Amino acid sequence: MLDLSTIPVVDNHCHAVLLNQTMDTPRFRRFFTESYDPIFAERHIQNTVYYLWMLRQMASFYGCSNTEDAILATRNKLDCISLTERLFRAANIDTLVLDTGFPPPFECLTPEQMGQSGHCRAIKLLRLEVLMQQLVVEYSDFDELVERFAMELSDIRGRGFAGLKSIVAYRGGLQVIERSKDEAAASFDEARMAIRDNQLRITQKPLIDYLLYIAFRHAAAQGLPIQFHTGYGDSDTDMRLGNPLHLRDVLERSDFYNMKVVLLHESYPYTQFGAYLAAIYPHVYFDLSYTIPFVDLLDMLAFTRQALSVAPASKLMYSSDGTNIPEMHWAAAIRGRSVITQVLNEMIDAGEIDEQQGYHLGQLILRDTAYTVYKL
Ligand SMILES: [Zn+2]
Repeated sequence: MLDLSTIPVVDNHCHAVLLNQTMDTPRFRRFFTESYDPIFAERHIQNTVYYLWMLRQMASFYGCSNTEDAILATRNKLDCISLTERLFRAANIDTLVLDTGFPPPFECLTPEQMGQSGHCRAIKLLRLEVLMQQLVVEYSDFDELVERFAMELSDIRGRGFAGLKSIVAYRGGLQVIERSKDEAAASFDEARMAIRDNQLRITQKPLIDYLLYIAFRHAAAQGLPIQFHTGYGDSDTDMRLGNPLHLRDVLERSDFYNMKVVLLHESYPYTQFGAYLAAIYPHVYFDLSYTIPFVDLLDMLAFTRQALSVAPASKLMYSSDGTNIPEMHWAAAIRGRSVITQVLNEMIDAGEIDEQQGYHLGQLILRDTAYTVYKL
């Protein structure tokens, strides 16, 4: 029987945890839904399989009963750092690849503190739409905006980032196409009009696409990866446009081949489409995320099988998408290892691979593919 339990993971997509870890039930429940509607925390989260599973895991970790009250009372006794340290140590993490675009930095641990808590390396990615928003607010002239945006991306590693992240799926969809300068400038004028209280939530698609193409050129020139949110996510996603097949224009461009494209969240529920892209395009990689989407064990086994069925393990990478509370990073590491192990064991039992090959494939998913992609 295969045993992957001692392999330290590279968590290739996750976020920082909140400084304020004092929870009451409504606040805690809210972290387990991507819906903005408070009715979920009030009435539905407690009837969701993922959440019930998580409560059981936490109860056994904290040594208390599996009621929300008992679990929250136990974890509320610990401060953010000691709670995070306890969980991250148990998770056995090699590296955290952090998207610092969410939650807001002033509310959470810094990347350095995240790394210290896990006794591991922590690297960060630059979330492009956050940068775009800041610069559109700052500049009233389109050419100056473009110049500054390009400058920010001229030496991405030099600025402390291991790669880029885009949430364009949330902001008009994954059909990112090349736009003319005139089209982008008109879209920029619209974006400027949408600024409220010095803040902008950028949604102007021609402008976003235009700036993304600039970012792609820089990422390709510097040989850096870019993560795309795909599939399951915030309730501002139009799920019809979250299918990774919409990225075709970007993936087909040979001048971008040197930019590694990472499709996040197993593109759930478009997993087979995303894994297929990773099997076809040399520069496409596929993320297997074991906390978000919040799905049950059988679905996790299913998406892991679907990915491993078609894509090479050297194109697959483990993640948690853990955010807000450190239990998410921890639970994903425990369950991700066990789900991947179970799927590989089935393949061994079916005579498709032997045990040594299974171990090798598991190691690629949990750690080694990410070492290549992020140049660790
Ligand atoms: Zn995320």
